[in-house]
Amino acid sequence: MSNFVFPRPAGEFPVQARETVAGTCAECGAAALARHPVLSEGGWHLVVKCQACLATREREPWRRLGHVTLMTDVLLR
Ligand SMILES: [Zn+2]
Repeated sequence: MSNFVFPRPAGEFPVQARETVAGTCAECGAAALARHPVLSEGGWHLVVKCQACLATREREPWRRLGHVTLMTDVLLR
């Protein structure tokens, strides 16, 4: 049951992978858009944010517990 195994991270600090998104920021014009999960009021969201000024372009609800996947969540898909 690999869903219940959480090995100690190898790196010194956790790093959130960010998917590069084409386009420019509507607020500052920087070509620095990226898609990544965030935890804010209302829970986890998958957002597209400008990495220069943090303006949000897209925001949609993500997984209930973020990076933690419960077996019940897998079974209900
Ligand atoms: Zn920006």
